[in-house]
Amino acid sequence: MGRTSKDKRDVYYRLAKENGWRARSAFKLLQLDEEFQLFQGVTRAVDLCAAPGSWSQVLSQKIGGQGSGHVVAVDLQAMAPLPGVLQIQGDITQLSTAKEIIQHFEGCPADLVVCDGAPDVTGLHDVDEYMQAQLLLAALNIATHVLKPGGCFVAKIFRGRDVTLIYSQLRVFFSSVLCAKPRSSRNSSIEAFAVCQGYDPPAGFLPDLTKPLLDHSYDFNQLDGPTRIIVPFVTCGDLSSYDSDRSYPLDLEDGSEYKYTPPTQPPISPPYQEACTLKKKGRLAKEIRPQDCPISTVDSMPQ
Ligand code: SAM
Repeated sequence: MGRTSKDKRDVYYRLAKENGWRARSAFKLLQLDEEFQLFQGVTRAVDLCAAPGSWSQVLSQKIGGQGSGHVVAVDLQAMAPLPGVLQIQGDITQLSTAKEIIQHFEGCPADLVVCDGAPDVTGLHDVDEYMQAQLLLAALNIATHVLKPGGCFVAKIFRGRDVTLIYSQLRVFFSSVLCAKPRSSRNSSIEAFAVCQGYDPPAGFLPDLTKPLLDHSYDFNQLDGPTRIIVPFVTCGDLSSYDSDRSYPLDLEDGSEYKYTPPTQPPISPPYQEACTLKKKGRLAKEIRPQDCPISTVDSMPQ
């Protein structure tokens, strides 16, 4: 690829470089702000999943806070330093990272929490959507600890099948929840941004870091009241029917001879097909290790 071809294909990529932004994502946050005035009155903000740092650049330039720490940026990956931005390297789904972020805001809550986090995409849509939702919920959990009442939370979402469930969860905590798609976000991408304004948790809500979302050693038996749901466990089938964990001889009980039956519907294009074809042609190389050989062959192997 020539040096200029990406510039030609992606105007935001080119503009980001020309304007000194570390990533084209900067335009997504700028365009979200144009629409929702996200930065109005904001002095303290958290940028979750921040690397390489273009959202942190935007925040540190556009919000009114002074000095290091008015923007806290968190990412799994290391990020080059930015003036006024305190960096934490860690996984936002981990309790230790969440605690480190929260400590910073004790007694002085944040006005804005943003999260542009994206997992490494696998191409399996259900898995990717699930991972994205987990990241968003981890970000929301952190937001419930650090946001001041009336504060704002903006997070990347994938507009997949279960997105309405996420909206309902967000709606529990914010008086307004919207889905926004900035122009700089490609139409071909299912990415969008949940813009949640007016942080207003339910009366009596106590943020709890020991929620299963963040603490994987959580004892689910501790859940009680309406959160504890026990579904019935039912076994089906007569006790005298075949046991799926046992092997049975091929000859049938009535004495008739076993006859192979092909699968009713073989897989259309299994991933192992190529290996099978190569094996049939004797072209599938396999390393022969002594422990894989029958004892007689090992004995006759040259020492
Ligand atoms: N907003 C950033 C910017 O403007 O430069 C771009 C963010 S990039 C699209 C997504 C980031 O999410 C990656 O840097 C990745 O390391 C981070 N990420 C993914 N999962 C994470 C996790 N569990 N904890 C922290 N960061 C995570």
